[in-house]
Amino acid sequence: MVCRSHLHYKSMQYIDVHTHANLSAFAEDYAEVVERAQKAGVAMINVGTQQDTSKRAVELLDEFSEGVYATVGLHPIHTSASFHDEDELGDEGETFTSRGEVFDHSYYKELATHPKVVAIGECGLDYYRNPTDEEKKRQLEAFEAQIALANELDKPLMLHLRSGKGGNAYQDALAILKDQAKVRGDSHFFAGSPEDAKEFWDMGYSTSFTGVITFADDYAEVVREAPKNLIHTETDAPYVAPVPHRGKRNEPAFVVEVVKKMAEIRSLEQDELAEQLRSNAEEMFGIRV
Ligand SMILES: [Zn+2]
Repeated sequence: MVCRSHLHYKSMQYIDVHTHANLSAFAEDYAEVVERAQKAGVAMINVGTQQDTSKRAVELLDEFSEGVYATVGLHPIHTSASFHDEDELGDEGETFTSRGEVFDHSYYKELATHPKVVAIGECGLDYYRNPTDEEKKRQLEAFEAQIALANELDKPLMLHLRSGKGGNAYQDALAILKDQAKVRGDSHFFAGSPEDAKEFWDMGYSTSFTGVITFADDYAEVVREAPKNLIHTETDAPYVAPVPHRGKRNEPAFVVEVVKKMAEIRSLEQDELAEQLRSNAEEMFGIRV
């Protein structure tokens, strides 16, 4: 029997808590991408954005026995007709993005029963492109439905919140979560204010940071102030590659660059921070990487 060397790692040193090896950008070489991550000691959570990408994230669980987890859910921009991103859904995605999706509880519940589905999402509110009242209503309905599923299955939420012309998505989400959520969650790609962040931390929610911190210092204060047990690193690959890979397709192995920069911002040794981040992810997502 062939035993690949990466299977002998006792555990992974790093974790990319929000990535998308399940998207079209990786259709041709996802196996190499996962393998490169494993060789770099990086475990990953592949995040679903609608029905097809959620299903694909779950399929990957059966293909890789270690270091790969999934979330299933409906991204707020996919609740209405949306911009078509070839890297996300490929050519065929065009028909999908022209209509949007209504959250189907039983479809997602069935996917979410897989023991390695560790959260519901990415779900939340996206006000970046100034959604209409009708679009906001659809986002809200899908968000509330996913909070209900997370409550039912006792799994945390993977939150996508993006403020913009349509308002402060963080403040709106906080009000909804305080009212409805019985679980915790992670505010992915955190880009809110230090005050917004503090409200999440006070509720036991975590914030995660991408490669953006390697080339912009807008979030240095939040990264520095986050409680040590409520912070994570992620890539959001294939998007926003960190320095020194900027401009290229991002991939989970590059999360090491985010850890390196976070260690610098928080004045910690990289290994010490990596150990803390691993334990944070294990705690939030109920896994052992
Ligand atoms: Zn994402």
